[in-house]
Amino acid sequence: MGGFGSGCWERQTRKPLTEEFFALSIRDTAPFLRRGRGQYFLLRGKGLTVGVVTFTGAISISHQAKDGQIKTQNVSIVQVPCRFGGSRFWFVCPTCLRRYESLYSCQDVPLFRCRVCHNLVYPVQREPERLTLLRAAHKVRSRLGGDTEMETPIPSKPRGMHQSTYSCLSLKEHELLAKMWDADWHWLEKQMNSLRRLIAHP
Ligand SMILES: [Zn+2]
Repeated sequence: MGGFGSGCWERQTRKPLTEEFFALSIRDTAPFLRRGRGQYFLLRGKGLTVGVVTFTGAISISHQAKDGQIKTQNVSIVQVPCRFGGSRFWFVCPTCLRRYESLYSCQDVPLFRCRVCHNLVYPVQREPERLTLLRAAHKVRSRLGGDTEMETPIPSKPRGMHQSTYSCLSLKEHELLAKMWDADWHWLEKQMNSLRRLIAHP
């Protein structure tokens, strides 16, 4: 049973974060893929040195695992046409076979797989709802040329901005703040209920 203080702000997932592990990104790999097969590059980070060799429709990834052994694995690459021309590459996760922009290597499973197969979460997924809404409101506020002090009134329309854009952004900011206050209210209500239960059944 959750006691007082165990509301939504404190309830956070315990899954590890993506940023704690080495990530091989398609952005780093794509320039070599475009040059064709036989390209080789090295990346370093999170205590790992990773070597990548390009093939047609695949790459080979080598790195030294924690036990000192060199692990080598092949990962398929797909090239998908973009909506407005050109094409982009994607890794195919060797475990779930879904397309991803990044593959990760974790200590427990020293093979490159997607974040879902490694059970990792993005930092934003750990963020309580209130902070996510506040962050979004800050973003809108800065587009309007204002500071992030949410108590101050919405700034007047910046020069060069269409009235419709200004109205739309102002409304968006208002909606985000209203949702945040709503989240605050629900959190407070939960805390009060927990407190009432504690008082009733100490
Ligand atoms: Zn996967």
